[in-house]
Amino acid sequence: MKRARIAIIGGGLAGLYAASLLEQHGVHDYVLLEARGDLGGRILSVTAGEADAHGSFDLGPTWFWPTIQPQLDRLVRDLGLERFAQYESGDMLVEHGGLPIQRMRGYINAPPSMRLPGGMAALIGALRQRLVSPHILAGHVVREVRMPGAQMEVNGVDAQGASFSWQAEHLLLALPPRLATQTLAFDPPLPPALASQWHATATWMAPHAKYVAVYASSFWREYGLSGEARSGRGPMAEIHDASLPGAGAALFGFLGIPAQLRATLGEDALRTHCRAQLVRLFGEEAGQPVAEFVKDWAADPFTATASDLHAGHGHGQAPDTGPDAGPWVGRLAGIGSEWSPQFPGYLAGAIEAAEAGVTTVLAQGPRRAA
Ligand SMILES: Cc1cc2nc3c(=O)[nH]c(=O)nc-3n(C[C@H](O)[C@H](O)[C@H](O)COP(=O)(O)OP(=O)(O)OC[C@H]3O[C@@H](n4cnc5c(N)ncnc54)[C@H](O)[C@@H]3O)c2cc1C
Repeated sequence: MKRARIAIIGGGLAGLYAASLLEQHGVHDYVLLEARGDLGGRILSVTAGEADAHGSFDLGPTWFWPTIQPQLDRLVRDLGLERFAQYESGDMLVEHGGLPIQRMRGYINAPPSMRLPGGMAALIGALRQRLVSPHILAGHVVREVRMPGAQMEVNGVDAQGASFSWQAEHLLLALPPRLATQTLAFDPPLPPALASQWHATATWMAPHAKYVAVYASSFWREYGLSGEARSGRGPMAEIHDASLPGAGAALFGFLGIPAQLRATLGEDALRTHCRAQLVRLFGEEAGQPVAEFVKDWAADPFTATASDLHAGHGHGQAPDTGPDAGPWVGRLAGIGSEWSPQFPGYLAGAIEAAEAGVTTVLAQGPRRAA
C-alpha cells in the first residue's frame, strides 16, 4: 500500500488549489486522486477549429467577479492570466410562448462579469503547471474510505480497472458534499446527522446543461444585438455571447428543459433544437455554426447524482466541513466549493473552502511525527 500524509479526493479547482497551497507550504507528501481522465471537474473548456483556431469555450463556469471575489482575483493575477468583460453592448431578445420576439435594451451587469480568454480551463492548466508532485493522479476513482486503525485507507479503481489503495493521515474531500455521501463508502460510517446534512446540500449547477455554437463571425453584433436572450419557449432559457477577443465568435445557452426530458431526447436532438432556436432569434446565419457542443452535467456521474435531477433554488448554506465527534474528527475536511461559507457553489467558493481546509490540516501537523 502506498502512503501519503494527505490525500485529496477530486482534481477540480478546489483540489488543485489545495495541492498548490500545500506545495507553497513545502508539503509535497500528498496524493491527489481524480476520477475523470482530465483535471478540472466542473471547469470544462472545449476548443474549436483547425489547430484550435477559434479558441476555447466554456461548457462549465464562465464568469467571475473580481471586485467581490478578491481571493479568486488574486489567484488569476498570480497565475498571470488575462481577463476580459462579458460582451453586453446592444439589445437583448426576449421570446415568450407564441408571441413575436421582442427586442429591448440589454442588461448591463455591475460589477461586470469577467471571463478568461483561454476559457476557465486556463485556470486549471496554470495551476497544474505549478505543481511538482508526481502524485496528481487522473483516472483514479475513489470508492471507499476506511479507518481500520490509526491510518486511513483510501481505496478505489484506476482507469485500467486495477485496484489502488493509499494510506493517509488526513483526507481533503475536494468534491461536492452530496456526491461524497452518495458515492464514497465510509467505514466506519460518518455521523448520520453530518451525512444527511451533506446529502441535503445541492451541487451547484449539477442539474443543468449548456449548449455552445461557434461561428465564423459574431454577426449578431453587426445588428446591434448583444447576443443575450431570454426564452420561455426553449430549449434554451438564457443565451449569451461567448465570443473571445481576437478569436472565435460564439453564442452559448443554458438549457431550460428538465434533465429527465433531456435524457430522453439525446444530444443530437438537443443540438438540432438549440440551433433552430438561435435561427429563430438571430436569423439564418445562426444555422451555420462551425462547431457545436452540448454538455449535460446532470448525466455526469462525477458531478451529479439522482438527487440532482431537479433544479434547486439558488445557493444553499454551506454544511459543516467535518464531524465534531467520533473516529473521523480531525481526519477529514470538505473543501469542495459547496463548503464555502461566502461563495458556496461558485469558483470563488472552491478557493475559499480549499484554503480553509489546508490551513486546518497544516495547523494539525503530521501525525506520524507526534
Ligand atoms: C454549467 C455550469 C456553469 C457554472 N457557471 C459558473 C460561473 O459562471 N461562475 C462560478 O463562479 N461558478 C460557476 N459554476 C460552478 C463552478 O463550476 C464550481 O463552483 C467549481 O468548478 C467547483 O469546483 P470544485 O473543485 O469544488 O468541484 P468540482 O469541479 O465538481 O470538482 C470535483 C472533482 O472531484 C472528482 N470526483 C468526483 N467523484 C470522485 C471520486 N469518487 N474519486 C475521485 N475523484 C472524484 C470530479 O471528477 C471532479 O473533478 C458553474 C458550474 C456549471 C456546471
